[in-house]
Amino acid sequence: MSNKSIGLSDDLQEYLLDVSLRESDVMRRLRVETMSHPQADMQIAPEQAQFFQLLLQLMDARRTIEVGVFTGYSALAVAEVLPEDGRITALDISEEYTAVARRYWEEAGVADKIDLRIAPAQESLAHLLETENLAASYDFAFIDADKSNYPIYYEHCLRLVRPGGLIALDNTFRDGRVAQPDIEEESVQVVHDLNKAIHSDDRVDISMLPLADGVTLARKR
Ligand code: CA
Repeated sequence: MSNKSIGLSDDLQEYLLDVSLRESDVMRRLRVETMSHPQADMQIAPEQAQFFQLLLQLMDARRTIEVGVFTGYSALAVAEVLPEDGRITALDISEEYTAVARRYWEEAGVADKIDLRIAPAQESLAHLLETENLAASYDFAFIDADKSNYPIYYEHCLRLVRPGGLIALDNTFRDGRVAQPDIEEESVQVVHDLNKAIHSDDRVDISMLPLADGVTLARKR
């Protein structure tokens, strides 16, 4: 399961949530509904969502981008802490999954902060850069979509965030498989190679967090 913090015992995970999780009622209901979804492990951990909220508040973020929406839990978390005029550009390919997201965003009263675009993310990102001229205009980007395209998403997001802006990449541990000596799955190899590339990428300051399934933070210089 990638939606609980890797390496924590069940007891400690439960303790962490008991003594620190502050989750709105609508977020909790969305999370619980998504737990019965066949792809439930695509939902980020609640403590991770709360951590992003804290980061965004520290940054006074107003414009964010999300690559991979699923049922909308992380976008809802972000929307809750953005100012009234804050905007999320949310990219996904699934009408079906994002229908759940839209329902909860409406219920939470944040739907007008979220610009959902249904198309392959690479196309939407290219459109933002080349047609809408939005390079260097985002404060924060969260990448949590198909892993094989992570390097492309990272490069596009690096152009879309402003200097001092932050990119967060999810699942950079791939359930621990990135550390195995013989990686057999191509999409795990891609993430492993990107982890190494980001390590020596002097365009960013970084921190790789053992939070949930590994979250890499990269701040654009
Ligand atoms: Ca994920």
